[in-house]
Amino acid sequence: MSEPVTFFRKALLYWYKPDARPMPWKGESNPYLIWLSEIILQQTRVEQGWDYYLKFKNKYPTVFDLARVSQDELLKDWQGLGYYSRANNLHQAAKYIVEHYNGKFPDNYKDILALKGVGTYTAAAIASFAYQLPYAVVDGNVIRIWSRYEGVEIPTDTKDGKRRIQELAEQGLDRENPGIYNQAIMDFGATVCKPKNPFCKNCPLQINCKAFSMGKVEELPIKSKKIKRKKRYFNYLIIKKNTYLFLEKRNDKDIWKNLYQFPLIETREVVEDENINDFELKIKMLVNANYNLINKTSISIQKLTHRDIITRFFMIELSDDNYLANRYLKIEKEALKNFAFPKIIQNFIKDNGLYF
Ligand code: SF4
Repeated sequence: MSEPVTFFRKALLYWYKPDARPMPWKGESNPYLIWLSEIILQQTRVEQGWDYYLKFKNKYPTVFDLARVSQDELLKDWQGLGYYSRANNLHQAAKYIVEHYNGKFPDNYKDILALKGVGTYTAAAIASFAYQLPYAVVDGNVIRIWSRYEGVEIPTDTKDGKRRIQELAEQGLDRENPGIYNQAIMDFGATVCKPKNPFCKNCPLQINCKAFSMGKVEELPIKSKKIKRKKRYFNYLIIKKNTYLFLEKRNDKDIWKNLYQFPLIETREVVEDENINDFELKIKMLVNANYNLINKTSISIQKLTHRDIITRFFMIELSDDNYLANRYLKIEKEALKNFAFPKIIQNFIKDNGLYF
């Protein structure tokens, strides 16, 4: 093993102070709670995930509690965290653990990795934190640290780049203390070797860091593909009949699965006020009754990882809801608080109060 890699491990562990960055799941050895924290933290900042973790830990202290809850209630508890497929996967995996393992969390990497919603990073984190199994975590932090430290100039999103980073991560791992080592490298990526403005000046690895000596810290890691952002145009109809509103559950293989929404008309472009007549034909087809368009909002945008959801809301009063009531969920306005919605709808409900 090369000297710089040995140095890396020693310097990293010497630098690491577990208490310097306290978090409620740090030092936890219960695999169920580690799993819970890791799923919550996927695509979520630590500050945001903190309260949710405590809430879930209190409300669902065991995998049985999580398996037992209804999907709607779980999604309601998850509301605000985004990336709702995580909650759906969490629920399915909890049921699987109860049914197939009698509620005992799997204790080997292969079975942990087989759980719904668990990728290699999460499996390595659980295996090393809960069972001290020698698996190195590899996420954006780890890719960045190793790319810079070893000056990896192969794009890290290619097969060769991924293989090189995986090799380095495994070589660097402290096989005696994989849990502590993995926690250390994660903290190091979050606080020292950060994506922007890393603290190279006081970095304990600086002496052997190739990116630092080559002046390439800002350039690494390299990515080959620029992800193209897609745009989608969602037009929601807030349809009112007396004190009732209408909802539907998103069931397709699409974003926001199992969350609720108002009746949706998706279009290929923004519905401009000049084209409102064409759009009203679509409304007419959806409601199949006479209606009045009372109000409409300007656009709001929710940015997801690879796409922008561009949304307008149209408030409508309906004369006859026979057709609609057979196709949508008819609820009292006050009952809106019982449903889990995508953030853009949740914000709309909160900000506008649905006043007609
Ligand atoms: Fe990262 Fe800078 Fe340290 Fe290199 S010297 S490991 S780039 S913080």
